[in-house]
Amino acid sequence: MSGLVPTRVVVVGNGMAGARVVDELCRRDDDVHITVFGAESRPAYNRVLLSDVLAGKRGYDEIDLTSAPGRVVQRLGTSVASIDRAARTVLADDGTTTPYDALVLATGSTALVPPVQGIAGPDGRLLEGVHVFRTLDDCEAISAAARRARRAVVVGGGLLGLEAARGLLRSGLQVDVVHGAGHLMETQLDPTGGAVLRRAVEALGVGVHLGSFASGVTGGRRVTGVRLADGRQVAADLVVLACGIRPQVDLARAAGLQLDRAVLVDDLMRSDDPRVYAIGECAQHRDQVYGLVAPAWEQAAVVADLLTGRTASYTGSRLVTRLKAMDLEVAAMGETGPEPADTGDGLEVLAFADPARQVYKKLVVRDGVVTGAILLGDLSTVGPVTQAFDRATPLPADRLHLMFSGLGTAAVVDPGLLEDDALVCTCNQVTAGGIRSSGCRSVAEVALATRATTGCGSCRGLVEALLGPRSRSAVEQPDPDRTLEERRSA
Ligand SMILES: Cc1cc2nc3c(=O)[nH]c(=O)nc-3n(C[C@H](O)[C@H](O)[C@H](O)COP(=O)(O)OP(=O)(O)OC[C@H]3O[C@@H](n4cnc5c(N)ncnc54)[C@H](O)[C@@H]3O)c2cc1C
Repeated sequence: MSGLVPTRVVVVGNGMAGARVVDELCRRDDDVHITVFGAESRPAYNRVLLSDVLAGKRGYDEIDLTSAPGRVVQRLGTSVASIDRAARTVLADDGTTTPYDALVLATGSTALVPPVQGIAGPDGRLLEGVHVFRTLDDCEAISAAARRARRAVVVGGGLLGLEAARGLLRSGLQVDVVHGAGHLMETQLDPTGGAVLRRAVEALGVGVHLGSFASGVTGGRRVTGVRLADGRQVAADLVVLACGIRPQVDLARAAGLQLDRAVLVDDLMRSDDPRVYAIGECAQHRDQVYGLVAPAWEQAAVVADLLTGRTASYTGSRLVTRLKAMDLEVAAMGETGPEPADTGDGLEVLAFADPARQVYKKLVVRDGVVTGAILLGDLSTVGPVTQAFDRATPLPADRLHLMFSGLGTAAVVDPGLLEDDALVCTCNQVTAGGIRSSGCRSVAEVALATRATTGCGSCRGLVEALLGPRSRSAVEQPDPDRTLEERRSA
């Protein structure tokens, strides 16, 4: 299909990747005719912020992602059941057939349900009181169940599990987290970081059971507890499963597309059928299946470029994970495994832990270049650390400066440390320079002009620091007379 600009684009999946590619296409070209199918009946929403909804910090209306203009045909609550690649059509579950010139698969993932005794009935339905946490419907079901429950067990102590635990704790439940690994959030943190986080989580009143596998759930009609493999039992009238995800690739498999863990794509995000693209969690690029929103949005932009006749390619994302774990800020990037004792042969590992203040910092440096870092609880130097990691340029001798922007100023971001090309919003790839030159005066204006803060939202503090003290008051009193164009040209 190279050189041809498709006029009919069909997007399967109206989640974070699908909605983004629709938005990117609309920003680039008025002539492309877009149809998007969404199995969920609701308009697109920011899935990352579901934890805030569960915690009662935001309403459903505050996580809306819809930006598609009227010309986009949205088929909400409609699943694509099959693809006829020869005829170049998709068949929806309502019996309709829609032709395409280019098809974008953005079907995401489903939540994993572990093979635990008693968890589901013969019909596959989860026992009453047991829930997964992936969609807005899941979120509503958990919130409703939490109103009737007193004790909750979250199975899984990764990012998602801790987010669920935070929400349930705020709903007034007694919460236990059961986690198979030896420390919390083992994908992002090393054991020391995990221990600091555990202390913070326990300080909030959450019970943490590490190295513990759920072997069964108890209860007849509805759940009464979780049985652990070591024989212990944790009482619960609500169980939330946060045990990982599995790419949703049934449609692609049935269509005969090449798969491994997900749909195999090249640097143009194309499957082995050049008219069929895959992005987000259902795509596997250079052996990576990303479970984060930033790569999905980068991939969406590349596909939108290609489908509107531009040149673009995706070579992979350098992952910088920024998040809040139980209200504790975390940034993790690159290799985080090496320990200070491993130092030698060009490897330096600097680590500082202050569990009482819930702070942990680690820098992994190879041959003078930052190859990994963990910042937990004090993100005052997250800008320069991310920049050093991103650029992979040799560091000056003063490594400590990169870990501490000034002793005793924990959690205060120093905007002076951020050079113009320092990445501030990792979800939307917005730099400090981009924010400075936007002319914006408030976080709301920055969000509108650059999209920074509209992903996971963890860069909000950095954006506020860059804008200076005026940003907070400007958020409360936006200047309605100042148009986006005026701000851009300011
Ligand atoms: C509670 C929670 C917190 C998270 N926190 C973070 C975070 O802090 N940072 C971060 O980077 N990421 C986070 N994530 C992960 C992030 O949300 C995902 O990486 C992102 O949503 C992936 O986008 P996607 O479009 O590939 O999949 P999804 O957003 O899941 O969208 C896929 C959509 O496709 C639809 N679909 C599937 N099959 C069909 C079909 N045949 N026909 C029509 N529609 C179909 C699905 O119903 C779904 O709506 C979090 C996820 C959750 C659940």
